[in-house]
Amino acid sequence: QLSRRLATVASYVPDGARLADIGSDHAYLPANLLLNKRISFAIAGEVAQGPLDNVQHEINRHRLGDVLVPRLADGLAAVQPEDLIDTVTIAGMGGRLIAQILTAGHADVQRYQRLILQPNIDIDVVRTWLMDNGYQLTDETVVADDGHFYEILVAVPGHVTYDKQALQFGPYNLVNRPEAWLTKWQREYERIGVIMAKLADANKQDTPAYQEYQAMQRDIAEVLG
Ligand code: SAM
Repeated sequence: QLSRRLATVASYVPDGARLADIGSDHAYLPANLLLNKRISFAIAGEVAQGPLDNVQHEINRHRLGDVLVPRLADGLAAVQPEDLIDTVTIAGMGGRLIAQILTAGHADVQRYQRLILQPNIDIDVVRTWLMDNGYQLTDETVVADDGHFYEILVAVPGHVTYDKQALQFGPYNLVNRPEAWLTKWQREYERIGVIMAKLADANKQDTPAYQEYQAMQRDIAEVLG
């Protein structure tokens, strides 16, 4: 049974995909997709030996040795041309690290028909990377899981321009307005409000920091409506 976060990532993997899951740790995501016969082949890439041991454990436990291949490698270096990978998942890392991994693998990355990315933070950094590197979003959502809000982005090759609001809040989220996305930004609005109240108590309304928080609140209020 996958967490709601990983189940949502999995739901965006096309049936029959040849998947590379980068930073796979326990390989729960590819193992689940293989066991459910949603896909027939996956690479589980890991940069560290400890997590790769977890991958191997999962492979042994479910006898997935023929269809789930563990690779010790930095990012997309885990993928070989003969793997014929068409879909890449990168989940559970910071957005900056995801962007770094994509940049390092960028010479090859255009080969991938679909990227499914779940940055824990700095989501805007990932959206900006996609826009700047010939990818366009085709979907995105936010899920609440275990007290956190997780953003999931789905991208395919293509050219598109997103404005600042779309990069921050997500072009599809702005239209679809998923419930967890609304709650995430309501909470953020409140969190900033608490900080502003403290600054106001300390007579610091004229500081650049206060004005920055005020601008952030204005941006959020504009999308929450
Ligand atoms: N993807 C799984 C998930 O979402 O539950 C595991 C996430 S775990 C928090 C992040 C994993 O990414 C760690 O196991 C770490 O070793 C791996 N990782 C970090 N940088 C990496 C890189 N450059 N290449 C491959 N794996 C990396």
